[in-house]
Amino acid sequence: RKRCFRISTGSKQWDSILAGGFQSCSINEVYGEFRCGKTQLVHTMAVMAQLPKDQGGAEGRVAVIDSEGTWRPERIAQIAERFGVDPELANENIVVGRALNSEHQHELVCGLSERFATGECRLLIVDSIMCNWRTDYTGRGELADRQQRLGQHLKHMTLMAEEFNITIMLVNQVQSDPGASALFAGADGRKPLGGHVLGHALTTRILLRKGRGEERVAKVIDSPDCAEKEATYIITTGGIND
Ligand code: ADP
Ligand code: MG
Repeated sequence: RKRCFRISTGSKQWDSILAGGFQSCSINEVYGEFRCGKTQLVHTMAVMAQLPKDQGGAEGRVAVIDSEGTWRPERIAQIAERFGVDPELANENIVVGRALNSEHQHELVCGLSERFATGECRLLIVDSIMCNWRTDYTGRGELADRQQRLGQHLKHMTLMAEEFNITIMLVNQVQSDPGASALFAGADGRKPLGGHVLGHALTTRILLRKGRGEERVAKVIDSPDCAEKEATYIITTGGIND
């Protein structure tokens, strides 16, 4: 466990409730309603990961699986400027794959093993984890099949995180129907997608919500070593900040 590291969120307050940031050797999840800053967080972390370790980085490259079509190199360039990183270089250090369906998403992740095995990449982002699964498996009768395939996808990522010492960040949506299935355990009435299969694969689970005015709130829902605390943050041109 000694070799593990943490990647900063860009917000000092948020980092402080996570003992420095999101941990390597594990799968971390941020979930919450639309426009809470989930996609902005992972853009910020894609730049942070490239920074020296004493600045909250991992001195590594980044791989992104984009399943919602929300990855924006222009945002990376803006965030890079905040940290004094060359905007073009910042984008060159990020490999992006557009996941068209759940099978394709799994293939993309499997295809990344080599980049991670060499230690070249230190952060894997999946934004979002469940979007393709939700559209590929619609009927109630398909739920068991869906959860089995999802479990295989997550198992592969767990092994990658541990074997290659990388941080994995999953973005997740919330169930739009609050009255729905008990399969989707969550907190504060905002239930993340993916049920127990996803819940059990995670090391750290963070709920994001809107706060007062421009403020947003991150809350630790599940962590092996951090208390269930909250931190506020804002979204700026330069990414997530205090
Ligand atoms: P989601 O949780 O749905 O992924 P996003 O991460 O896309 O949400 O966050 C959307 C929010 O980010 C919006 O409120 C938007 O105003 C804000 N945002 C996006 N780009 C910028 C920017 N360049 N400067 C400041 N805020 C921004
Ligand atoms: Mg998003």
